[in-house]
Amino acid sequence: MAWVRAKHVAAGPRISKGKAGCTIKPNLRLIIRPDAMNASESSPPYVNRRAFIYSGSLFLMTACYDPRHTVWANAREPSSPSVVRLAMMTDLHYADKPPAGSRHYRETLDKLSEAAVHFQRDKPDFVVELGDLVDAADSVDAERGYLKRVNRAFAAIPGKKHYVLGNHCVDTLYKQEFLEEVGQAESYYSFDEREFHFIVLDSCFRNDGAPYGRKNSRWDDANIPATEQEWLNADLEQTQKPVIVLAHQRLDVNNNFGVRNAVDVRKILEDSGKVLAVFQGHSHKNDYRAIAGIHYCALAAMVEGSGPENNSYSMVQIFGDCTIQVSGFRRQSNYRWT
Ligand SMILES: [Zn+2]
Repeated sequence: MAWVRAKHVAAGPRISKGKAGCTIKPNLRLIIRPDAMNASESSPPYVNRRAFIYSGSLFLMTACYDPRHTVWANAREPSSPSVVRLAMMTDLHYADKPPAGSRHYRETLDKLSEAAVHFQRDKPDFVVELGDLVDAADSVDAERGYLKRVNRAFAAIPGKKHYVLGNHCVDTLYKQEFLEEVGQAESYYSFDEREFHFIVLDSCFRNDGAPYGRKNSRWDDANIPATEQEWLNADLEQTQKPVIVLAHQRLDVNNNFGVRNAVDVRKILEDSGKVLAVFQGHSHKNDYRAIAGIHYCALAAMVEGSGPENNSYSMVQIFGDCTIQVSGFRRQSNYRWT
């Protein structure tokens, strides 16, 4: 099955801004996979629907398609070893309740088991869930039960864990309750992993600055308050490493899935000249756009669809030259940015 064809892109924003420790090359290529899904209507001109973003003049990606598992895997890796390897998944929405629409809450546990087997073999440096680990319950006790159950499986995956707060995580629970349950000190923070700096953001604040909790919020009223923006600016100033940002609500759209003050936050990221990519969840679909030389990638949700073929998770490799490769499994798209 011929599943990719590559062509040069005639026009598009040139990405040439120097980053800390690396340079992003401008020669973006497009590789089209027939069944890639859900690219946004408003993607930039060089990002087609049903498209993978690919770059580098010599690298041609081939793929293995396993019809039993619908797993796509890269068959050829870049020649330089990856510096950092992180496992990533988003929008698990685990809850012990019947399906609603396309969301199959109980099946998340089986999907997570599959991902865990994969990651036990691949041994990532750390594991990230990009928010909405649980779906909302009507009571605090029920919500804690959902969280304990899904986190038992998530926490068992090898490697350090990082939890990005999603709106559903703190719909019923207060932030502190969620964080205590998963053993994480802060809702927004940063950390270094070898040659790279990672920033976890918390957009679960209402327009008036109140943090989400105890059903006081709306899913489409996400904001990053001034105090967190100041922290972000200072954190970016102090690091000398290239930066990857991890967020739940989106910083690259101005619709209901976006952070309301995303323009202000993007300006901080852009002005630093250090940010390579932003990984996001919340909209449940594969999506990508480049803004001012930063890759914004939204990942597909694990909760969407029934059966293993609808699972979604990924392994992200970051190389010494700042190449980022997203190897997606099941419904998750692949990307490679240099
Ligand atoms: Zn969400």
